[in-house]
Amino acid sequence: TARPPLALVTGANRGLGREVCRQLRDRGYRVILTARDAERGRAAAHELGVEFLQLDVSDPASVDRLVAEVRRLHPEGLDVVVANAGVALNGFDGNVAATTVDTNYFGVLRVVEGLLPLLRPGAHLVLVSSGVGQRDLLSAELRARLDLETLTRSELSALMHQFVADVQAGRHREAGWPGTAYGTSKIGVTALAHLLARDLADDPRRLDVVAVCPGWVRTEMGGPNGERTVEIGASSILSGLDVPRDAPHRFYRDGAPANW
Ligand code: NDP
Repeated sequence: TARPPLALVTGANRGLGREVCRQLRDRGYRVILTARDAERGRAAAHELGVEFLQLDVSDPASVDRLVAEVRRLHPEGLDVVVANAGVALNGFDGNVAATTVDTNYFGVLRVVEGLLPLLRPGAHLVLVSSGVGQRDLLSAELRARLDLETLTRSELSALMHQFVADVQAGRHREAGWPGTAYGTSKIGVTALAHLLARDLADDPRRLDVVAVCPGWVRTEMGGPNGERTVEIGASSILSGLDVPRDAPHRFYRDGAPANW
C-alpha cells in the first residue's frame, strides 16, 4: 500500500516521548501517541495532529487493550515502536525499586512482547535506555550472569525481580547490586535489546532492535541543568532507526555505539 509507515511511542504526553512523536510526524510517519493519562495524552496528540491511544505500561490489562486496539485500527501493522515511558523516582527503598523496575524494565518488555506479532517486515524496536545503566555498577558475579550470548529473556527478568527482592530484604549490597533502581532498570533495558536482537535474528521479518540513550536532557526527569534540548535528545533516540542492522552492538547515542 502507499500508506506512510506507522509508528507508536510510549510515555509520549510530555518530554522526550512527545518530541519523538513530533519528529516522526515531520519525517512523514503516521504516529500513535500513547500515554497513561488519557486527558493529557489526548491533548498532546491533538496539538501534534496525531492519533492517541491510552497505555499504562505498568498495567498488563492496559497493554492487552492497546494491542487489541492497534490490531483493530491498523491491521496492516507497525513499522516503528519507541519504548520511551520511564520513571526516575527520588529516594531508594523497596517501593522505589519495585516501581522503577516494573515501569522501566517490565514496562518495555510487556509492550515489546505484546506488539511483536503486529510488527511489519523491517520494523524497528527502539528501547529508550540510559548511559547511567553501566554494567560495571554490578558485582563481577552479577556481570558474569549477564552473558548476552546465553542469558534468556526469562533469566534476565528473574534477575530484575531478584534486584527488587534484594532491596526489599535489605541485602542488595551483599548481593552485588548498586544503590540505584534507575541505573539497574536501565542495565536491564539495554541487556533486553541485545537478547531480543539475538532471539529475533531468524525472524523472517528482519526486525531491528536497538537500545538508545538520549543524553542528559532538560525534561521534567532530566531537570533544568540537563546538557541537551529535548530536540537533540529525541534526535538521539531516533538515530536508533539508522544504525547498521547487523552490528552486534545494540546500544547507541547520537547514532554512535555507546558504552554500557
Ligand atoms: P519525563 O519524566 O519528562 O517523561 C516521562 C514520560 O513517561 C511521561 O510521559 C510519563 O507519563 C511517562 N510514564 C511514566 N510511567 C509510565 C507508565 N507506567 N505508563 C506510561 N507512561 C509512563 O522523562 P523524559 O522525557 O526525560 O524521559 C523519557 C525516557 O528517556 C525515559 O525512559 C528516561 O529514562 C529516558 N532518559 C532520559 C534522560 C534525561 O536526561 N531526561 C536521560 C537518559 C534517559 P506521566 O506524564 O503520566 O507521568
